[in-house]
Amino acid sequence: MQYSQTLEGGTPAPFRPETSMARTMMDIGTRRIFSEEHDLFRENVRRFFREEVVPYHAEWEKAGQVSRELWEKAGAQGLLGIYTPAEQGGVGGDLLSAAIVWEEQMYCNCSGPGFSLHSEIVMPYISHYGSQAQTERYFPQMTAGKCIGAIAMTEPGAGSDLQGVKTYAQKDGSDWILNGNKVFITNGWMSDLVLVVAVTNRQAKTMAHGLSLFLVDNGTKGFQKGRKLEKIGLKAQDTAELFFEDVRLPAEALLGEENKGFYYLMNELPQERLIIATMAMASCEFMFEETRSYVRQRKAFGRTIADLQVGTKQKRLLFSLSPLRRSICVARAFIDSCLQLHSERKLDSSTASMAKYWASDLQNRVATQCLQLHGGWGYMWEFPIAKAFADARVQPIYGGTNEIMKELIARPIVSQK
Ligand SMILES: Cc1cc2nc3c(=O)[nH]c(=O)nc-3n(C[C@H](O)[C@H](O)[C@H](O)COP(=O)(O)OP(=O)(O)OC[C@H]3O[C@@H](n4cnc5c(N)ncnc54)[C@H](O)[C@@H]3O)c2cc1C
Repeated sequence: MQYSQTLEGGTPAPFRPETSMARTMMDIGTRRIFSEEHDLFRENVRRFFREEVVPYHAEWEKAGQVSRELWEKAGAQGLLGIYTPAEQGGVGGDLLSAAIVWEEQMYCNCSGPGFSLHSEIVMPYISHYGSQAQTERYFPQMTAGKCIGAIAMTEPGAGSDLQGVKTYAQKDGSDWILNGNKVFITNGWMSDLVLVVAVTNRQAKTMAHGLSLFLVDNGTKGFQKGRKLEKIGLKAQDTAELFFEDVRLPAEALLGEENKGFYYLMNELPQERLIIATMAMASCEFMFEETRSYVRQRKAFGRTIADLQVGTKQKRLLFSLSPLRRSICVARAFIDSCLQLHSERKLDSSTASMAKYWASDLQNRVATQCLQLHGGWGYMWEFPIAKAFADARVQPIYGGTNEIMKELIARPIVSQK
């Protein structure tokens, strides 16, 4: 039996991006950060996701990766490297334009494409610390979607604690010899370029003085990709293990200065956390809208779910959506102010951590409650809420776990006079 047959009043309306919560939020005047130009750009991005991603996503979920063609199409549309300066080979757009791509991806509930990691996590390292030769070598290809980027920090024995990094790069003349392995690497399977975090000074008292970053090309002798990892969500995103065995790298593969890797990571991680927060917010809005539409169609006991009475106070079930809406609107205002702050380069690490912690936590609460309102159908993969629920679970884990976020939020509380 098709699920649609169980729904009096027909199949729940498929998600229509044009009626997404993004617009609802703007209607109530909480989203003032975007200009009319941004809105026009958003329409193009929305069209791209609707036409080039949504129809193929189920197929990619089975394959455990998106297609290469998609990356090149995104590049041709100017959706990669948006926030990288044009003079370096990027698109030269602003942060808010990049944020539109992050949001639209979540409004279409398609977690497969690892665009944000490639464009606004990997590319900034090269943009900020790379040489002219490195930007010239990689950026035109990365912006065109012909070179896919990944970043490899995590190892089987080192996630939250970078002190545990074992991957080691040893000097050999002017070359480096890289050995070690990495795990959970987003875009890892499809990557053409991996930014690898490695120890370069074993004598350093802390890793703050002993890590460096290296640009490693796919196909370099000794660099092998392991399996695509099977995950409970993000089914169409390729997450892989990477192995480096006596990989000889030229001096030009070092990014920035030797032993400065830890500082580079600390500088760039707030942007990664803002991306996670922004995508979490958009997903909350998507799930809310999807559920609002569902409860108004699905019937039980001769009424729509929305009209059912619950509890001693005989509240309509629809009212259980109102605390969710309140939480989403309040969080949206905070995340937008973080986006604005970061546009002005004023977002500090502690505030970015609050954004990531709060929004990813909320995303999971919204996912649980919205799925509950879908009943058993919410547990079925064919329903968008099931996918959104599964995708939400990793958000408090990667980019630094939310427990680590608590630590980062606490630091200025302790240190400020
Ligand atoms: C789908 C996915 C994609 C990922 N993509 C990437 C990627 O592209 N590149 C990359 O480098 N990594 C990536 N990661 C790795 C991710 O960043 C790590 O999983 C994360 O940082 C946590 O590290 P861990 O898994 O080793 O957990 P651990 O560090 O072992 O933590 C286990 C538990 O202990 C808690 N804990 C640890 N330390 C503390 C502390 N000091 N105080 C309180 N609690 C603590 C943690 O919060 C967690 O609950 C990805 C992970 C996943 C699941």
